[in-house]
Amino acid sequence: MSGPLWLEAKRVFCDRCRCSVDTDLIHADGHHYSDNGDFYCADCWGSDEH
Ligand SMILES: [Zn+2]
Repeated sequence: MSGPLWLEAKRVFCDRCRCSVDTDLIHADGHHYSDNGDFYCADCWGSDEH
């Protein structure tokens, strides 16, 4: 079962570099979210050890 095609992809913004990231690329388990709730894109997450 696929998602509705009319549903526009949601985007979140990296709290470090401010780039936008499609939520489809984010793990649903909260990966890429720091403990304090900030979101980091894959590039920032990988380059900044928490
Ligand atoms: Zn970033």
